[in-house]
Parts: sequence; C-alpha cells; structure tokens
Amino acid sequence: MNHYDIDLFVIGGGSGGVRAARTAAGLGVRVALAENRHLGGTCVNLGCVPKKLFVYASHFREDFLAAKGFGWFINQPQFDWPRLLAQKNHEIERLRGIYQDLLNDSGVMLLEDRAHLLDAHTVRAGERQFRCERILIATGGCPFIPDIPGKEHAVTSDEMFALDRLPKRILIVGGGYIAAEFAGIMHGLGVETTICHRGDKLLKGFDEDVRTFAAREMCKKGIAIRFNTRIDAIEKTGNGFAAHTDQGHRLESGLILYATGRTPNISGFGLEAVGVEQDDAGAIKVDEHYQTNIPSIYALGDVTHRFNLTPVATAEAMALVNGLYTDKPAPVDYDNIPTAVFSQPPVGMVGLTEAEAKNRYPDIDIYQSVFTPMKHTLSGLDEKTLMKMIVRRSTDKVLGVHMVGTDAGEIIQGMAVAIRAGATKAVFDSTIGIHPTAAEEFVTMRKAEL
Ligand code: FAD
Repeated sequence: MNHYDIDLFVIGGGSGGVRAARTAAGLGVRVALAENRHLGGTCVNLGCVPKKLFVYASHFREDFLAAKGFGWFINQPQFDWPRLLAQKNHEIERLRGIYQDLLNDSGVMLLEDRAHLLDAHTVRAGERQFRCERILIATGGCPFIPDIPGKEHAVTSDEMFALDRLPKRILIVGGGYIAAEFAGIMHGLGVETTICHRGDKLLKGFDEDVRTFAAREMCKKGIAIRFNTRIDAIEKTGNGFAAHTDQGHRLESGLILYATGRTPNISGFGLEAVGVEQDDAGAIKVDEHYQTNIPSIYALGDVTHRFNLTPVATAEAMALVNGLYTDKPAPVDYDNIPTAVFSQPPVGMVGLTEAEAKNRYPDIDIYQSVFTPMKHTLSGLDEKTLMKMIVRRSTDKVLGVHMVGTDAGEIIQGMAVAIRAGATKAVFDSTIGIHPTAAEEFVTMRKAEL
C-alpha cells in the first residue's frame, strides 16, 4: 500500500472518465471519480444519445409521407415536442442510473462535486481533499460561440435538448456534423431550417464528393443552405431574432443555433496553477501514453481535442488503464477510425478520402455509384444514395469507403472491419452480396471511373 489516499483520481464522469474509472477499479486499483453535472457526460446527456433519439423522432415525417406509396393512409399525424422531451429525459435518466450502478459495482468512490487540482498529487472535490498517486483529466469539451455582437441571443447544442417549444424557423450557423444533424432534426420536426456556413461546403474532413452530394440531398428535402456567409451580428426582434450577414442580408428566425465548434473544457479547475501544458487551441497536450508534462497527470478524450468521438474516448481509457495497471498494454490505433454523421440522409466513412489517397499514392482507382434505393421506387421521395470506394491499384488495397444514404453508419461499421483487416478490392468482389440491400453495391462495383 502506498502513502496516497487514492491510486487514480478521475476528473469527469463522461465516456472516457467512466470507462477508465470502472476498468481500473475492476483491476483492484483504488479509484475516485468526480463529476459535477451528470454521469455519462456529453454523450449521454447532451450529445450522441439524445441527438440520435431526436433523429429517430424527426424521421417519422418522411416515413409518414413514404407510407402512402406502400398503401398506408395515415390521417394528419400530430407531433408533440414536450412528449418527445419527456421520453428522451426518461431514457437518459435510465442511462445515468446504469452508469452509476457500473461505478458502484466496480468499487469506484463517486463524488458528485466539481474537482479542483491543488498540486500534482492533490485534488479537492467539494469539502474533501485527496492525495492521489495519479490524476486523470477527462473533462471533455463545451460548445463555442464566436465573439460577435448579440452572441448572447444564440443557443448551442446544449440548449437544443431542453427547448420549451420548437420555433417556426431556425437559423443554424456552422457546417460541421452537429449543424448538419440538427438541420435534419429541426426540418424533420417541421421547423423551417436554414444553415448558414462561412465555407463553401458542409462536413469538412469528409470526401469532397460526399460533401457536395450530402448538401444537395439535404437541400432537396427542403433545408436551405447559405454557403460563404458569415454572421456579423445578432439582434433581438419583436418575436425572434435577426442575424446580419457579411453580405448585407438580414435573416429572421425564431431561434439561432450556433454549431461552430467545441473547445476543450480546461478552465477553472486549477490546470494553470499546476502547470499542465496546453496547445494553442487550449487542448491538454499528452504523449502517446496520455501523460501530460506533469508525470502524475494524464488526460484523454475531448479535452485533448483530437478525435472527438465517444468510442475514441473509451478506447483511450482502456489503453491508459491497460498501460498503467496491466502487463498487456494495448495502444489505440488511430488509423481508419470510422465515423458517421446522422444527417438526413446520413453519411458514413472509413479510411482515406479521394484527395488524401491521391496525395499519398500515384495509383488510385475510384469506384463510385449513385442510385435510387429500392424503398424510394415506391415511396415517392426523391432521395439518392452515393457509395464510393478508394482503391490503390498496385496493391489492390481498399483505402477508403464512403457513403451517403440510409443506414450509412450501420453499413460503414461493417466496412471498417474489412478495411482494418486490410481487405483488397478482390476480397470485396468475391464477397457474396446480401440481396436486396443497398450495402451489396459495395461488393458489386466493378468498373473504376475513368
Ligand atoms: P465528456 O463526455 O464531455 O465528459 C466530460 C465530463 O467531465 C462532463 O460530464 C463534465 O460535466 C465533467 N467535468 C468537467 N469539468 C469537471 C470538473 N472540474 N470536475 C468534475 N467534473 C467535471 N460522438 C460520437 O462518437 N458519436 C456521436 O454521434 C456524437 N454526437 C455528438 C453530438 C453532439 C451534439 C455533441 C456535443 C457531441 C457528440 N459526440 C458524438 C461527441 C462525444 O459526445 C464526445 O466525444 C464524448 O462525450 C467525449 O467524452 P469525454 O469523456 O472526453 O468527455
């Protein structure tokens, strides 16, 4: 037994913190975890989970429209926002309970308090102070609104999960995945939706064809997108808000959502005093073992601002705990991380984009297919699917798989296993398709684009 009260003190009970705490405690490590808001962090309370529930809710509008083509006639469906909020809240309570049980059952000391670092080995949580051998910072990130006049009139994704009522019109500022997802949600729930983005395409980091195609499909559904447009100021009006653009337009709406990025959660808990180094974006700097410049202090997940995804935070947590407390270190492989955007239609990708592949290798073949999914032959809806595959000619290796269309996230998850296993185009080609599905297109793409 060492002379510390706690072996591992975890600050933050989100995806990364909870996984690290309960995995370490399961190995007999003495662990405390402090969480000052809600267990489950962003993902459970203000991110992945409530967002996906809203996506499901908003999709019904199209499903009702599509139903007619299949012989179903439904009288005017009614949507009840308070009912959706109550259902969502109920599910989130349930998940928080599961997190609490997991921590309790694994023997983690749970502190419902904000934690402050006092020195390299001391943490205060509420009235209590702990001497800790190691400290893990897993405090995540928070939404960011640029400093413009009237910024106080805008909301962020956090508030979107608890709106009293839906506006008639919403202006969504931003072009990333949160903007695209909320545009689909709001539009599906019957809100007139406009995206305002300073760039010329949505979804930076995705394949260029995917970016263009996804935006076009969103527009076809009725979402308005203003590219190359910046908001200079926001003003309160009699019954809503007006955003003034750099092009001299005045955009009126009942609500303005800023989805312009997130910043690491680093302030107000003693990082500066202890001297934990951050980069220019405010992210905590760590080495490949998640160790900061202070040897007893570690950090992972969104606070390190690298791949801000829940499965990455949990993988990092496992890698950290295995590295520190077992003789089986298993570092995270950051290559080929699959990702999805739950826009409507959704987007999924794994591996390299066409531009990245062409930058790296001289011999790239592109296979691409745009088609009407079978459902929409009868649905009456005009939605197309895009599938794209990037292959290196000399090795036949599939370097990237991209999709815009129904179930993209589900389909790309399977593709990611194949890519990680090093599948060649020949392996894809010799795989028997599942008919009739959209996914079978990935194993029947025979001709590279010229
Ligand atoms: P978090 O989950 O943010 O947890 C940090 C916790 O630390 C918080 O609970 C906070 O209250 C607590 N905390 C902070 N400071 C202190 C302190 N001083 N003392 C005590 N506690 C403290 N990822 C996906 O993979 N898929 C998705 O579909 C997806 N959708 C998203 C949608 C939205 C709208 C948002 C905002 C995010 C989404 N994400 C998604 C990202 C995902 O939520 C994050 O990557 C993930 O939650 C990061 O986990 P974390 O443990 O690093 O931090």
